[in-house]
Amino acid sequence: MSLITVGTMAFDTIETPFGKAEKIVGGSATYVAYAASNFLEPVQQISIVGYDFPQEELAELQRRGVHTDGVEIVADKKSFFWSGKYHIDMNTRDTLVTDLNVLEDFNPIVPESYQGAEFLMLGNLMPKLQLSVINQLRVRPKLIVMDTMNFWMDIAMDDLKEVLKKVDVLLVNDGEARQLSGEVSLVKAARAIMNMGPQFLIIKKGEHGALLFHNDHVFFAPALPLEEVFDPTGAGDTFAGGFIGHLAKTKDISFDNMKTAIIVGSAMASFCVEKFGTERLKEITREDIDQRLAEFVQLVNFDIDLV
Ligand code: AMP
Repeated sequence: MSLITVGTMAFDTIETPFGKAEKIVGGSATYVAYAASNFLEPVQQISIVGYDFPQEELAELQRRGVHTDGVEIVADKKSFFWSGKYHIDMNTRDTLVTDLNVLEDFNPIVPESYQGAEFLMLGNLMPKLQLSVINQLRVRPKLIVMDTMNFWMDIAMDDLKEVLKKVDVLLVNDGEARQLSGEVSLVKAARAIMNMGPQFLIIKKGEHGALLFHNDHVFFAPALPLEEVFDPTGAGDTFAGGFIGHLAKTKDISFDNMKTAIIVGSAMASFCVEKFGTERLKEITREDIDQRLAEFVQLVNFDIDLV
């Protein structure tokens, strides 16, 4: 069972009400890979980095069963750089800088060894490049999950809608769901977005959990109430990695199993926010994950007598 992940590998500068981290490793595909590699091997990464990206970070991912044959290293350019500042509620943030650098002329090539993967995670990236990866796969994966963000809606909405026609699951946050659909009600937004292509839609609501839509069904996964949220960067990508990691591990893409998968995604995201960058994701063990999943079960488990 294999999973292809596509997205950015980057440097981030992050400011939160609790502190600032300068030029730490981030990127959508980095977080997806750290999360998904807890559930299956191999995770087959497609990305691009510059001369400045730490070799140790690639080695660390490889140690976790992440294949990096599809990660292009450009000798004379800098890695993608993103900088963001969180508001006091830690749920919303402003993007301060997006320097595309190597991403500007990225032309992802799917390595021959990746062909035949059954799962594809299109992490946040230029929609055109997400589409190019889908088109290079000779056999359509069993499940294609796509993440995106407002940045691409602002500058590449038409391309984004083309990709949407080809994916099974879309992951966005509530603001992005509204922007994409033009609807204020999330239920109406979900219906409009599912008419654009994906049969399943996940709307992430930060500390307020996530909603999974499919046809007329809706399921809710809470976020774990944490005493301290240190840095929410990458929580969405970590959620995505946990979600698709669980589906790929269990090889079951039913709506029922997707309910479990969004709980797994929420559990993984709850670790991500506890420290800056990928730090916490590097520390956790399988036991930590199981324990946190048990906390989720406790959080929503109740008896009710209907009168
Ligand atoms: P998240 O907090 O899950 O939305 O993801 C944050 C990560 O996405 C950071 O590590 C950034 O490097 C990366 N990122 C930010 N903007 C973009 C973008 N426009 N395209 C791709 N990745 C991005």
